[in-house]
Amino acid sequence: MNVGVLALQGAFREHEQILRRLGQQVTQVRLPEHLEQVDRLIIPGGESTTIGKLLVAYKLVEPIRERARREMPVWGTCAGMILLAGQIIEGRPEGQPALALMDIVAQRNAFGRQLDSFEADLQIAGIAGEPFRAVFIRAPLITSVGGDAEAVATLDDGRIVAARQGRLLATAFHPELTDDTRMHELFLEM
Ligand code: GLN
Repeated sequence: MNVGVLALQGAFREHEQILRRLGQQVTQVRLPEHLEQVDRLIIPGGESTTIGKLLVAYKLVEPIRERARREMPVWGTCAGMILLAGQIIEGRPEGQPALALMDIVAQRNAFGRQLDSFEADLQIAGIAGEPFRAVFIRAPLITSVGGDAEAVATLDDGRIVAARQGRLLATAFHPELTDDTRMHELFLEM
């Protein structure tokens, strides 16, 4: 299996390192021909407006959408989750592209300034054992899930921070910034 990591901007190297630790072949995806070589794709955290613009510039929007709809598992973390969301609330400039593959609503920068970054222990559906220590950085929230999408992790107050819809996975936090590889393993099994 060859795992693609979208490498236009953001925390793609960290994902790559974890995948290599898990013994995976990894390809950095910057162009449509790179996408053709991979079996699945991770869209990293970073700045969703920037990644969105670069997706358009490098003509990756339609190829990713087409393959994701047909057969390719895709996981978006943080900014990547925003790009997967069918609807984005707050701060989405007019005309900003999104992949819009999942029936979730993402609210950007949902935690405000004082909670810019924080960590939380999460129970994640599909991950057994001790709670997952999740790192949130200017994180979005999932304000609703619809269609076939399901919440797979919530904060203590019930707010949704991860969702799955068939072969698509979205997390508001950054599992690539911890030593815990269980979230990556979950994605590789999807
Ligand atoms: N706040 C960023 C955005 O709106 C996401 C932050 C992140 O990916 N860590 O795109």
